[in-house]
Amino acid sequence: MPADEADGGGEATARAVSGQATCYRHPNRETSISCSSCARPLCTDCMVYTPVGIKCPDCARLPRSARAQIKPNKLARAIAAAAIGGLMIGWVLAFLQSMGLFFALILGYLVGLAMSALVLWAAGRYRGVETARAAAFGAIWAYLSPYIIFFGLDLGSVADSLASAPFVVLGAALAAYIAYRRVL
Ligand SMILES: [Zn+2]
Ligand SMILES: [Zn+2]
Repeated sequence: MPADEADGGGEATARAVSGQATCYRHPNRETSISCSSCARPLCTDCMVYTPVGIKCPDCARLPRSARAQIKPNKLARAIAAAAIGGLMIGWVLAFLQSMGLFFALILGYLVGLAMSALVLWAAGRYRGVETARAAAFGAIWAYLSPYIIFFGLDLGSVADSLASAPFVVLGAALAAYIAYRRVL
């Protein structure tokens, strides 16, 4: 990185002249504080307080994006909540298989709301693509689980569900969309 080398050279020159480091952004300000990441000297105006110490504005920007990554245990919680919540919503949906279009859309909206709230709670209010996908997965799983679990057990209700299948698919798509948008 040529820019860093130039900075380093300037800093070395400043140190040689005054005997003390000067802020890398304000060469006329002496300082004894330096960035905890790149070790460049910083004046009090340029210091950025972060959970891992004082940083320069350049380095403070990097950890912020790194911290935006969800912790694996919270993502696991979000996925587990989506799976368990989806199963529970699925139990309710199993009793509501014969439905009209209007009812299917309202139900889809409600399932989306419930799943987004559940995933946000489980993930500690983390909003991001990962949790949004978990919520969308949970919403679709809520619709799929009764078919997967009860398939073959009750042929009558399966026949019923096939008749309203297009509405169910529409409701599932809406639920997944609502859950995704509300979590993201
Ligand atoms: Zn730095
Ligand atoms: Zn400065």
